[in-house]
Amino acid sequence: MKIAFFDVKPYDKQFFDKVAKERGVTVKYFETKLTEDTVTLAKGSDAVCVFVNDTVNANVIDGLYNLGIKMIALRCAGYNNVDVKHAFGKIHVFRVPAYSPYAVAEHAMAMLLTSIRRIHKAYIRTRDFNFSLNGLSGFDLNGKTVGVIGTGKIGRVFIDICKGFNMNVLAYDKYPSRELEEQNKAKYVELEELFKNSDVISLHCPLTEETYHIIDKNSIDLCKKGVVIINTSRGALVDAEHLLSAIKERKVGAACLDVYEEESELFFEDFSGHIIDDDVLARLISMPNVIVTSHQAFLTAEALENIANTTIDNLCNFIKNGECSNEICYRCGKTEDCKKGKCF
Ligand code: NAD
Repeated sequence: MKIAFFDVKPYDKQFFDKVAKERGVTVKYFETKLTEDTVTLAKGSDAVCVFVNDTVNANVIDGLYNLGIKMIALRCAGYNNVDVKHAFGKIHVFRVPAYSPYAVAEHAMAMLLTSIRRIHKAYIRTRDFNFSLNGLSGFDLNGKTVGVIGTGKIGRVFIDICKGFNMNVLAYDKYPSRELEEQNKAKYVELEELFKNSDVISLHCPLTEETYHIIDKNSIDLCKKGVVIINTSRGALVDAEHLLSAIKERKVGAACLDVYEEESELFFEDFSGHIIDDDVLARLISMPNVIVTSHQAFLTAEALENIANTTIDNLCNFIKNGECSNEICYRCGKTEDCKKGKCF
């Protein structure tokens, strides 16, 4: 089997080379993203492997289909960048549903602590031998209320971490987990109550039509003054312009953003010598109470190893058995437990 990889970085190659050799598959790496302009690079491959910011719209899917490509392997969990409806009946789409919920949840907490304890400021000061503490006061997490939106794999690990800090947890999920409430880990509430009562809000739901801009002017208006917003899920969950306004108005106390709505043109690349056209992002980054990381939450050795193993296994299992439990199936609407590749 020959796989064309798009948007590949050195850390991807390190893990995929090893797994590809073990499974006897041939890999071809492209640094460029998959787009309508680059789709022909996949010619001669059996499958393409893509990441969060590759474009897998109807035109790209048709382009791949016309090249005889039958499989798209996402090396990530979220699939909002794939037109799964259009792919149905043409190309099978697989994902890596879980590679390390710990990586993402721990990063969310790392950003929160960095932000509220002003570590990002202290680090720069002490490197310049400035040992002043002025302006570095933070607040305790102990006894504060965190609102967690999305209590799936990552949300639950984040809740466990927050419980370790003795925080009260309010949760919202379209499909609440009775187990979490029975274990006294979280109290499910309606979104409005979560917004009104949380000191910290962390997003761990997928990006869908329902969750698009779940943090916008209306929801921020409901929040406590000084609320801290953490987004390690998908950029478009937050209306960045409204977030910026709320930060300027001192309504939002801090923002920790690992993802950004318009990240696909910028994140994962070095623009340090360039002028950034995106004024909203530039202004957010200029704020002392905003921390931006460039979709880094997944980036641990454990997660990268799991991603490489599951991605290649998804393709190998499908070739061998004609089914894959990690197929994203449009027809039955499930991502797991569908007819496993036999829906079409
Ligand atoms: P998951 O599927 O285990 O959990 C998602 C949860 O969101 C589920 O409990 C689901 O019921 C809930 N949900 C669905 N629709 C909802 C809605 N409308 N409102 C509220 N909740 C809703 O997924 P996960 O592994 O926990 O990942 C969560 C998200 O994290 C992914 O969708 C992905 O976008 C993001 N992610 C980011 C990174 C990163 O590096 N920053 C890495 C992996 C995943």
